[in-house]
Amino acid sequence: MAATRTAHDSDGVMELLAGVPTGMLIGGTWLPSGDDRLIDVLDPATGALLAQVADGCVDDGLRAVTAASDALAAWSKTAPRARGEILRRAFELMTERTEDLARLIVLENGKALPDARGEIAYAAEFFRWFSEEAVRAVGDIQTAPSGANRILVLRQPIGVAVLVTPWNFPAAMATRKIGPALAAGCTVILKPASETPLTALAIGAILMEAGVPDGVVNIVPSKRSGAVVGAMLHDPRVRKISFTGSTEVGRRLLATASQAVVNASMELGGNAPFLVFDDADLQAAVDGAMIAKMRNCGEACTAANRLYVQAGIAPAFTAALTHRMNDLTSGPGLEPGVNVGPLVNEESRDKVAELVDDAIDKGATATTGGQTPDGTGWFYPPTVLTGVPDDALILREEIFGPVAPIVVFDTEDEAIAMANDTEYGLVAYLYTQDLARGLRVSEALESGMIGLNRALVSDPAAPFGGVKQSGLGREGGHDGLLEYLESKYIALTW
Ligand code: NAP
Ligand code: MG
Repeated sequence: MAATRTAHDSDGVMELLAGVPTGMLIGGTWLPSGDDRLIDVLDPATGALLAQVADGCVDDGLRAVTAASDALAAWSKTAPRARGEILRRAFELMTERTEDLARLIVLENGKALPDARGEIAYAAEFFRWFSEEAVRAVGDIQTAPSGANRILVLRQPIGVAVLVTPWNFPAAMATRKIGPALAAGCTVILKPASETPLTALAIGAILMEAGVPDGVVNIVPSKRSGAVVGAMLHDPRVRKISFTGSTEVGRRLLATASQAVVNASMELGGNAPFLVFDDADLQAAVDGAMIAKMRNCGEACTAANRLYVQAGIAPAFTAALTHRMNDLTSGPGLEPGVNVGPLVNEESRDKVAELVDDAIDKGATATTGGQTPDGTGWFYPPTVLTGVPDDALILREEIFGPVAPIVVFDTEDEAIAMANDTEYGLVAYLYTQDLARGLRVSEALESGMIGLNRALVSDPAAPFGGVKQSGLGREGGHDGLLEYLESKYIALTW
């Protein structure tokens, strides 16, 4: 398919884009959408058109379900070792092509190149981890308590899975679902975010090259998400939905999934608290805040959204964080030395600006940043807010941008109460050199993951996921494989 490319005629960007498929991947073939509609993919640093990809319609979604369903029997019977070796090969191909894939992410998502390289390493690792897990879908056997029989439990692939992913980690959110699904013996239809379909399509091509059989991985970009995903979930051949995105859309998908009782895994929004106690190592806490806040320009569900800092350390912490935020370099993500790219689109940038303006109207002060710059691209400056009042919206809503609101607290109990005062519960961070306090507070925080003196928790070998309205289920670790397996119990007499 010919893509329209009007941006970037330099630096090999045209060549890079020319190598990326722009059709839907269905049954091993790249196809235009059934009604020939296209999605414009834009560069957030300039607003320029990068490419146009197929915009799948309801019929395309259902055709992909047919392809996945037709491929299921053979794939689920493929030896686990063989499935694992294909995933291992996909890990190797992604790793070899890190630079091209990272540049592609920068182009369509906007993040700075170092963040994009980090994402590819993380994303590829899901294929390696699940290549190893493919041979560990271990069952159980036990003697019934009565002694009369045996209880045998097999783990079987759940079936055709629909995977829906967001734009903020266009590679990692796809591999975190495709890896365990294929390891378990499931076949999939991926619907990537409309802002960032190119990365998903490039990964689709890599999976085919790695030896994934036709129909095992299907990719249907679509702007008509509600209709296309809804139709797939109403098709009785679909047995699983795994979604990463906003809590609002997650609630809607759970409602749809309930009608056909489709198994659902949900990785939803976050509102992570970042607690710094007086006894923290100041340098470590500031380094951690920079990572937890600024990785991916703040566009992460795990981003530190609210910084609660104890009164004794607050002045030094605020000064050091302001200095570090002020030192960052904003610009188009491919430019050397840039560590803060633009936000993904105008709507996201405006939302960040509104949250900052609301906090300032209610009495907060920006010690750095705080104003939308003029010029092209969806940039917002690294910003630190102090004196943020309780009723500021920025403490309630996901910021998804480079803004760090600081709230000062006095006691441990007060900090825990403020941290837990949210419908979300994905991740929380705390810095203290008193390990007893660290573990006590970790137990009291209502979240699926904790970073204790550590600002990066994401790890393909660990169970990632939230409590409360941050989601259902876990991705990564051994838990990630179990999300795609059903237990079958055989009552057995011999
Ligand atoms: P979003 O609007 O919920 O979109 C996510 C995905 O769902 C996209 O592919 C989107 O397609 C699709 N979608 C939208 N409406 C849909 C509908 N009615 N039915 C089916 N699919 C639909 O989320 P976003 O704003 O793009 O992404 C940011 C959100 O993701 C944040 O809330 C963030 O916290 C969350 N997130 C969570 C995790 C986690 O692991 N917990 C990780 C990363 C991000 P279109 O692009 O075509 O609209
Ligand atoms: Mg969206």
